[in-house]
Amino acid sequence: MVIDCHGHYTTAPKALQAYRDAQIAALENRSQPRTKGIVDIPDDEIRASLEGAQLKFQRERGTDVTIFSPRAAGMGHHIGDATTSLHWSQQCNDLIHRVCGLYSDNFIGVCQLPQSPGVPPDNCIDELERCVNELGFVGCNLNPDPSGGHWTAPPLTDRYWYPLYEKMVELDVPAMVHVSSSCNPNFHHTGAHYLNADTTAFMQFLTADLFKDFPALRFIIPHGGGAVPYHWGRYRGLAQDLNRPPLGELIRNNVFFDTCVYHQAGIDLLLKIVPIDNILFGSETVGAIRSIDPETGHYFDDTKRYIDQARSVNDADKEKIFEGNARKVYPRINARLKGSRYGDARAHRTMNVARGFQPSES
Ligand SMILES: [Zn+2]
Repeated sequence: MVIDCHGHYTTAPKALQAYRDAQIAALENRSQPRTKGIVDIPDDEIRASLEGAQLKFQRERGTDVTIFSPRAAGMGHHIGDATTSLHWSQQCNDLIHRVCGLYSDNFIGVCQLPQSPGVPPDNCIDELERCVNELGFVGCNLNPDPSGGHWTAPPLTDRYWYPLYEKMVELDVPAMVHVSSSCNPNFHHTGAHYLNADTTAFMQFLTADLFKDFPALRFIIPHGGGAVPYHWGRYRGLAQDLNRPPLGELIRNNVFFDTCVYHQAGIDLLLKIVPIDNILFGSETVGAIRSIDPETGHYFDDTKRYIDQARSVNDADKEKIFEGNARKVYPRINARLKGSRYGDARAHRTMNVARGFQPSES
């Protein structure tokens, strides 16, 4: 089976954005009570928003399950304060939960966290617990820069983040390192800010002993790891000169890259450079690039095609990329998939060959 570890609800019905617009407008009027409020969307509208988009692409491209989270650019942690972010995150997460309820074979939830600039991430623990324990989510998106392009938070390796990491380890859920929109005009959000953040996070992980403190902590760096695979030699050299462990050893059980790279040569490089055990299939569909590549006649973000066509990896490696590694990094999906049409013998065989896999029933 094919698990896409990176999908956002970019096609949510208009009522969600209307809620957000009203919430932002209300920030100007502090006399209004601050409540979570209601996003009123009928099930039929949710179905319509997905049938012609994410579900259509799953069927056409031959992917099975998408690990699904709220629209990343919409997280907007820099807007308002922690209460603003909490209400907005809860609404977005509740909507993902409804999607996963309507299409339990197709989507598994990952949550947005109620981060806010200058607010320690301890405030995210309750929402993470709610999403994992009550809504059945299997991970979270963690924004390393809640300021939206000004980078005012400490590095991800700072003890500032440790209370949230402790909860992630306790719940056995990973985080995708994912920034949101940029309010700094120097950085286009999907073309610069996202890729900068991916590269920045990797370099932060390289320079500190975070994973000695948290051997079970797991991060997915999206968008193919930003500039990292292309500059692998630079990072290997930096690790050596800084007396850090070799990169393969440093990332082995803790840092994983997705395959949201939108051309064959980029995927070929990623698969050749990064250890196969550290690569998870992802497409970020429907997402940053929605058009067709005139050079191939196929959608840029149809990343499954590039992996299918990659010559440097064998079928066993492809099975790890498409399924086994995701089951290892997001162990809670195993319990979810057992109750679905994918809970078959083939899936369990793949689970067992995934390196380092520990069954998790929780
Ligand atoms: Zn994304």
